[in-house]
Amino acid sequence: MKDFEKIKTLLAGKINILITTHVRPDADAIGSSLALFHFLNKSGFHASLVLPNAPAEYYQWFPGIDEAFIFDKNAEKVKQIVSESELIAVVDFSQLSRNGELGKLIASSSAPKIVIDHHPEPEMIFDAYCWDISYCAAAEAVFELLEFLDEKMLKDKTISECIYAALIADSGSFSYSGVSPGTHLIAAKLMENGIDHSRLDKLIFKSFTSKRLFFWGYCLSEKLTLFYDEQLAVIAVSAEEFNRFQTDYTDTENLVNMPMMIEKVRVSVLIVERGKKIKLSFRSKGDIPVNEVAKDYFEGGGHKNAAGGDSLLSLEKTVELVVEKVKGFLEGFHEN
Ligand code: 5GP
Ligand code: MN
Repeated sequence: MKDFEKIKTLLAGKINILITTHVRPDADAIGSSLALFHFLNKSGFHASLVLPNAPAEYYQWFPGIDEAFIFDKNAEKVKQIVSESELIAVVDFSQLSRNGELGKLIASSSAPKIVIDHHPEPEMIFDAYCWDISYCAAAEAVFELLEFLDEKMLKDKTISECIYAALIADSGSFSYSGVSPGTHLIAAKLMENGIDHSRLDKLIFKSFTSKRLFFWGYCLSEKLTLFYDEQLAVIAVSAEEFNRFQTDYTDTENLVNMPMMIEKVRVSVLIVERGKKIKLSFRSKGDIPVNEVAKDYFEGGGHKNAAGGDSLLSLEKTVELVVEKVKGFLEGFHEN
């Protein structure tokens, strides 16, 4: 669904545009939203970026992130922005229910809503879609839309940096299966706009605090358990461990990818305790649809090879359920 003309028509004559993205925003969510934010403001609109919760400390370098309004911290201001918005752009997700109270607030607005995303099963409640499951990142969708709207305006270093950072994050530096020749063409065009790709690689992949790396070391040496002849890797981290290491869940983003380096591992699951909830992250190789595991047993979803969900069980019971339910998927799919 690439309703580019319709999106152009919806933008015409509007001033106040609200841009929002999903909870616990990752680099694709932030970079894609900010690219749209800068593009629209440069084009004469008044765009506001609203995030459901504060982005992790290590994303503070993104240009413009400090201008975002955080619903968790300033709900009244966000309510005002929603009430004044003439168009709402939903980026890197397409199920408003994922955004809790902010999602409900946005759903209740009468402003037309557009979605820019690549997740399976978008809700069919939006007025126009820049959506395709074959986009490897929301950044690809944003690039195509902005190129359609104003190719010249897109030739901007800040906008290009936001898109490139989002693209390398969600494509694993152009390594995941969703990467296409088109992804590389976009990267080439962004490089022509003067981005420093080495700097962005460092900011996205090589800017850990020493505390975060030591914590990963602990999780890998003490917490990683392998099941079914090493085909399933599970790391479970309790609230007590986060406290002990004086860290929080933001330091576990991407940790789930580490066990995927083990050749035999086909599914990796990271399970972390966050308040009363247990949050799960799934990764898989080949045909194994971990989004189905997430959807069927953990009220979640996502992509075939990268998904997430929640559990209200204890940490131990959640691990047991994961080990039990993933078994059938390992047996049912054989391509790696
Ligand atoms: P991550 O493991 O990096 O948090 O998320 C991987 C993928 O799963 C992302 O595409 C994300 O949007 C999706 N995802 C993560 N958590 C949830 C969830 O609770 N519900 C749904 N529907 N998708 C999720
Ligand atoms: Mn994404």
